[in-house]
Amino acid sequence: MTDQRPTKWAVVQYWASGPSGHDVFAPHLDIDSPCCFTCGWFSERWMEGRSFRKAWERATLERAHIVPAGLGGSSAESNIILLCAPCHRESPDWQDPWEMALWISRRPERASKEMEHVDAWLRAAGEVPLFEVALGEMAIAGGTPEKVIGVMREHSRRAVAHGGELSQGTMAAILRATARDLLP
Ligand SMILES: [Zn+2]
Repeated sequence: MTDQRPTKWAVVQYWASGPSGHDVFAPHLDIDSPCCFTCGWFSERWMEGRSFRKAWERATLERAHIVPAGLGGSSAESNIILLCAPCHRESPDWQDPWEMALWISRRPERASKEMEHVDAWLRAAGEVPLFEVALGEMAIAGGTPEKVIGVMREHSRRAVAHGGELSQGTMAAILRATARDLLP
């Protein structure tokens, strides 16, 4: 079966034109800044030097049916929204679009990909008290942040990223190895 779904850009143009239900099914949509219609998740890298059209097409967002094709939902723009992977995975597959509307209204906002990355490093640092000790010692000894970053980079190169993302456990391991190198 061929994929009959419209392009992401066609979906964006449809919902941005303000059809009925756009505030329900695309509450976060802003044609100038690609993001998940439902939770607002985005990456700062999508826009870099690109037209809005290219940025939307590049964005790692999925075309999701409001009413699933398997339950008779059409592949017209009016039945497709752009969602991040977790939103797509967790959204309802149900015959009545009202279920999707209700689910969207309760969906919490997500920070950007880059902010989530910072959050993950901070949580990992919370697991490694030694890292904080090492930072303190280094500050007293007059060390620079560049030195810390350099050591972290070296240890990061030896780590394996699952699906392009470092797990929190791997981040903690990198911080622990860094702290050991920094401490006298
Ligand atoms: Zn989302």
